[in-house]
Amino acid sequence: MKAAEHQVKPGIDIRSSRDKSRLHEPPHPPSELLTSIRTGIGNDLHRLIPGRKLILGGVRIPFARGPAGHSDGDALAHAICDALLGAAALGDIGRHFPDTSPKWRGVSSLLFLRHVRKLLQHAGYAIVNVDATVGLERPRLFPHIPLMQKKLAQALGLKAGQVSVKAKTGEGMDALGRGEAVRADAVALISKLVEKSRVEKSRS
Ligand code: MG
Repeated sequence: MKAAEHQVKPGIDIRSSRDKSRLHEPPHPPSELLTSIRTGIGNDLHRLIPGRKLILGGVRIPFARGPAGHSDGDALAHAICDALLGAAALGDIGRHFPDTSPKWRGVSSLLFLRHVRKLLQHAGYAIVNVDATVGLERPRLFPHIPLMQKKLAQALGLKAGQVSVKAKTGEGMDALGRGEAVRADAVALISKLVEKSRVEKSRS
């Protein structure tokens, strides 16, 4: 048997010039790599007080009160940070950006997102998508959502369609409904390519 015939792979038509070039492909094609998918969840709650700017998803929203907090108190960005860190099992926002550090006082929380993006990149992960819900009695967030999604996507290096933000009120109940707090919940999906043999080893 000739060497070329010996290496013929199933599904290859050796009469086709395109397939002829595939005859000598290495014996271990990319199918030895598997996509590892992981999900994470995050939430955040901030008390609303007078004299603070209301910032959500990096967007300044005109209102008489804003979140108490060490940074800019952007609950939406914080919940997304935790969802991403959780998906990669890299701890939480308090571990990476402690509120005891003067370094983070008053900073934009988009900076946290950019840092989390780098941590995930370093660990080999790509972000698939982020979905979040903000709970706030008033003001209405609907007009601000497109810009929030844009800013969050920019900070995370994503396309606009990979970031979803939704808004809910508290229906007049609990701290949200009384207008005393802002809350955000987020989920994130991340992925990376891993060698099949590594996955099998980790399962055994
Ligand atoms: Mg927070």
